[in-house]
Amino acid sequence: MRLATKATHQQTRAFNHGLVLRTIYDLGPISRAEIARVTELTRTSVSELVGEAIDEGLVEEVGRGPSSGGKAPILVQVVEDARVVIGLDLGEQAFAGALVDLRGRVQRRIEVPVDGRDGKAALGAVERLVDELVDAAPAGRLLGIGVGTPGLVDTETGEIRWAVNLDWQDLPLGRILAERTGLPAFVANDSRAAAMGEYLFDVNRRAPNLVAIKIGHGIGAGIVLGGELFAGDGFGAGEIGHTSVVDDGVECRCGRFGCLETVASSRAVVEQALAEAARHPDGDLARRLAQNGGELTIDDVAEAVRAGDEQARRIAAAAGRWLGRAVAALIGTLDIRHVVLLGNVTHLGDPWLDAVRDEAARRALTLLSRETSIEIGGTSEDTVLLGASALLMSRELGLVPAR
Ligand SMILES: [Zn+2]
Repeated sequence: MRLATKATHQQTRAFNHGLVLRTIYDLGPISRAEIARVTELTRTSVSELVGEAIDEGLVEEVGRGPSSGGKAPILVQVVEDARVVIGLDLGEQAFAGALVDLRGRVQRRIEVPVDGRDGKAALGAVERLVDELVDAAPAGRLLGIGVGTPGLVDTETGEIRWAVNLDWQDLPLGRILAERTGLPAFVANDSRAAAMGEYLFDVNRRAPNLVAIKIGHGIGAGIVLGGELFAGDGFGAGEIGHTSVVDDGVECRCGRFGCLETVASSRAVVEQALAEAARHPDGDLARRLAQNGGELTIDDVAEAVRAGDEQARRIAAAAGRWLGRAVAALIGTLDIRHVVLLGNVTHLGDPWLDAVRDEAARRALTLLSRETSIEIGGTSEDTVLLGASALLMSRELGLVPAR
């Protein structure tokens, strides 16, 4: 029935406030008359709303523009450090947090290793990270908290329904952080936050549509359509990691069999490499395994690939082909021209990327795949936390920091 409900006066006012602020943000320095022309609001409304934003410290007057005959108009612009956002990236190896200004610039950054923590211990680490950033923030300027986390997330409530690695189930992270700090908190799946970060902060890309796939321990895609993050009906859009792709495949950590993660994730690649090392005790992978005291990481495999080891290259290519199938399905469904690959599996480099591209091209409609670029992304190591911050700013102020 939401469509039938009339917007209240207050909602309209909040919407117009956001519209005016966004206009100043995107086009400033700008005069009040120009804002009225662009937004199609009355001059009186614009003056009131600009006055409000100046009172809030969000906007300032910055001199006069060129005159078009009469008196030269006063120009206003957004004060970029008027507010800061705490952005968090709950990564596999480390939890990173930063203070981010309204233009998406990182002011201060802290990182803590995960060290295998999960459940309550992991939550405790997140809370300490947030406390430290709250203390570090300039007084009275904190706008809120934006979190990118692995797992299935209800972005409306900020509840993490399920994050396997962190052993979180039905965890109301948004509410916990909001109650702890008194600030609004926005929680999104990390792949989706990364997609938003890639979309907003890659200066070379101007396309309105983009798919970003994060391939690490888990695999997930974030889909940006027309500049907006697409969530799906149940917040599960882009959850491609647990789509079964192998008939009679091995058991996945989700309890089902043959998921994409069992053949294309960092864990799958490392398991293949361990098996290969056992089969060929005098090979490159076995040598690295011995050097590392019986452990291999995705980066060890990546180094073996770079060193030209045949087995490692074969493993990388096989993982790439499995991912390529998933990419082909996305291209076929969405007809999106830009696919960005993120996460530590991308460290496998060209043999892996070539396999992803070849398989996607082979399986998708030629007309579509020919037009699609598949690239390794990562405009910044902070893509996830910047994307999460941007989502919070967009929700709280109607601002989309970008480019
Ligand atoms: Zn699975």
